[in-house]
Amino acid sequence: MSLLQVKNLVVEFPHRHGTLRALDDVSFDIAPGEILGVVGESGAGKSITGAAIIGLLEPPGRIAGGQILLEGERIDHLGFEQMRRIRGKRIGAIFQDPLTSLNPLQSVGRQLVETLQTHLPLNDRQARERAIALLKDTGIPAPEQRIDHYPHQFSGGMRQRVVIALALAAEPKLIVADEPTTALDVSIQAQIITLLKRICKQHGAAVMLITHDMGVIAETCDRVAVLYAGRVAEIGPVHEVINHPAHPYTAGLMAAIPDITQDREQLNQIDGAMPRLNAIPSGCAFHPRCPQTMDKCMKERPDLLGAGATRAACWLHADVPEREPA
Ligand code: SF4
Repeated sequence: MSLLQVKNLVVEFPHRHGTLRALDDVSFDIAPGEILGVVGESGAGKSITGAAIIGLLEPPGRIAGGQILLEGERIDHLGFEQMRRIRGKRIGAIFQDPLTSLNPLQSVGRQLVETLQTHLPLNDRQARERAIALLKDTGIPAPEQRIDHYPHQFSGGMRQRVVIALALAAEPKLIVADEPTTALDVSIQAQIITLLKRICKQHGAAVMLITHDMGVIAETCDRVAVLYAGRVAEIGPVHEVINHPAHPYTAGLMAAIPDITQDREQLNQIDGAMPRLNAIPSGCAFHPRCPQTMDKCMKERPDLLGAGATRAACWLHADVPEREPA
């Protein structure tokens, strides 16, 4: 059974002049222990998808349709308190800025011990030992001393290691990591991604890794979902999506992966910009930017179609038979 199922998810933001639809019919699932990358440009709906799953949509955002199931149980309609318990125990969250997840007024040890004792039957000594072990696991040097330090006494990279320890403290089955390295120094981004991958594997946790960086996806994920204008443009095994992108948007993202042999910027290969929510184009939302637009693309919106070993929401694949992943 899938660990997480997102089915036809719709997220809307009501405002004075109407309603903006930020996610429109988004579906995917995550298997136990799997790393699913969610990628796309800013405004594609990546972070909103993550926030909907962990029950932290910014008001007035609301789930207006579809379902989210964790281990077969619906969690999309739970109240704040019930979701808070699920967040600590069954879903861990890691955000771009480690300070979002840490209380500046408490030592990291106190925060870890509190999280551990909220979710697991541990006495003070056991919880402290477990906290030290978690800090050690995440590569914090001298964890026996560092456990009593406050967040401001850690560097950005070390703080994100503490957040990873905190997210894994209650042994959740799923970690939702939203741009976990974007705020960090480039030189330590790879270390944090490597750590996240290793430690989640060690703890048997699946990861939903939200990033704008296709390079990170390529190195880290088993499968990838490419979002565009609040919908899944393509989803499939990561090596297939990278080597045989079926959606012209994915192909554009791939062309934008930095190449160390050439001097080019990331995500600069696709002309135009992600449409605003109040101006989503008719038919395929990508059609104004697509080099392969056809008449049909402007009028009819494609659903996900079998496209080689992936699935792509693109009319180019309307009649192409599916093939097994290599
Ligand atoms: Fe391009 Fe048409 Fe495919 Fe959209 S449906 S990505 S416009 S070819």
